[in-house]
Amino acid sequence: MKWAMQRRCALVGVLVILLYTDVLSAQAQVRQEVRLPDILGYKTLKCDFHMHTVFSDGTVWPTVRVDEAWREGLDVISITDHIEYHPHKEDIPTQLNRPYEIALPRAKERGILLIRGAEITRDTPPGHFNAIFLEDVAPLETKELLDAMEAASKQGAFIWWNHPNWKPDKKGWLDIHTELYEKKYMRGIEVVNGLDYDAEVHAWAIEKNLTFMGDTDIHDPCPVDKSTPERHRPMTLVFAKEKTLEAVKDALVNGRTVVWHSDLLIGKPEYLEAIFDKAIAIRDFDYEGEDTIRCAIENRCDVALKMDRTRGPGPKELVIPPGGTVRLKLKVKSVESPTELSYVVRNFLVGPSKGLPVTLTIPGQVTVNIGVETQGK
Ligand SMILES: [Zn+2]
Ligand SMILES: [Zn+2]
Repeated sequence: MKWAMQRRCALVGVLVILLYTDVLSAQAQVRQEVRLPDILGYKTLKCDFHMHTVFSDGTVWPTVRVDEAWREGLDVISITDHIEYHPHKEDIPTQLNRPYEIALPRAKERGILLIRGAEITRDTPPGHFNAIFLEDVAPLETKELLDAMEAASKQGAFIWWNHPNWKPDKKGWLDIHTELYEKKYMRGIEVVNGLDYDAEVHAWAIEKNLTFMGDTDIHDPCPVDKSTPERHRPMTLVFAKEKTLEAVKDALVNGRTVVWHSDLLIGKPEYLEAIFDKAIAIRDFDYEGEDTIRCAIENRCDVALKMDRTRGPGPKELVIPPGGTVRLKLKVKSVESPTELSYVVRNFLVGPSKGLPVTLTIPGQVTVNIGVETQGK
C-alpha cells in the first residue's frame, strides 16, 4: 500500500514536471505578427534572404534560423552560407546543401517558405553576391566569379549584390559590376544590410532599376526575441501573388519589394503609396460652424507615419505611431467642400533623403435635405 502510494506520488511528480516543461516550451515559441497591409492585389510577404549558420561563419544550427524567423513574423527566408569561406571546417564538414536540407523539415512544420541559397564570396571588389532559388549549390564552387554566376544563372537563380558598402575604402560601382548587371546576373542590391542603410547604394538601385533588398546577414543568434515596431530585424517586403517559391521569384525579378529598416520604408513610390493608403484611416468627422473640422487619423500598420506639411491647412508636423490615432482640429476655408492636406511622409523613402508626397482628403460636410410635410388642417 505504502509502495503503491509512493509510486503514485512519483508518477504525479513526473506528470507535473512534464506538463511544466510543456508549458515552458510552448511559452518559449510565440510568433509576433507584423502588421503591414497587402497591396495592389498582392500578398505582402515578410522576408529575410541573407543569413548564416555554423555551415559557414555563423554560430547557430540551421533550424534555429527557422525558429527565429517564425517568432519574428517572417514568411520567407533563405539561408545563404558562404560557398568559399568555412572557418568551422575542422568541426563541421563543408557540405554546401546541408543547411537547406536540415532546415527544410522545420520550415515546413512552421509554415515558413525556405529557399535554397548561397553567398558567392569574393574579395572586395567585386565583393559578395547572394544567389537563391538554386537546385544545387555545389556547381557554384568555381575559381572564376563569372563561372559561378553562370552556374547560378543556369539554375534560374535570382542574384544580388550584398553589402556594397562593407569596406568603405573599396566601395564603388566598377566595370565588373556593370558586366554582371549587363549580363543580367545581378538583378538586386542590398540597400540595407544588418543595421546599415546606404544612401549611395539606394541611388544606384534607382538608377539601375535593381530590386531593393534589405537583409540581416545575421551570423550570431538573433538578439531580438520578438518583432516590435521599434525593435525588429530588417526585412524585404515582397509583393507576391501567393506564398510560393515561383511567386516570390516573380516578385523579386520584377522588383516588387520594399525594405523595412528601423522606422524607414524604402522603395518605389507606387508601393509606398499603396502601403500608406492602406495604413491610414481618416474618420469620426465633426463639423463645427463654417470653418472648423475635427477628425481622427489612425495608423493601422507597424511603421510610424512621420509627416511634414508641404502647404495648406493642417499641423506643421504630424506623427502617428504604429497602431496609434491622433485627433485633429482643422481650420478650413469651408466645411461644405473637401479639404486637402498636403504632406511628405519623411520616413517613407522614395529616394535618398526624399520622402513620399501624400494628400489626405477630408470630405466636406454632407447636407442632407429632408423634406418636411406640413400637415394642414
Ligand atoms: Zn558577405
Ligand atoms: Zn553574408
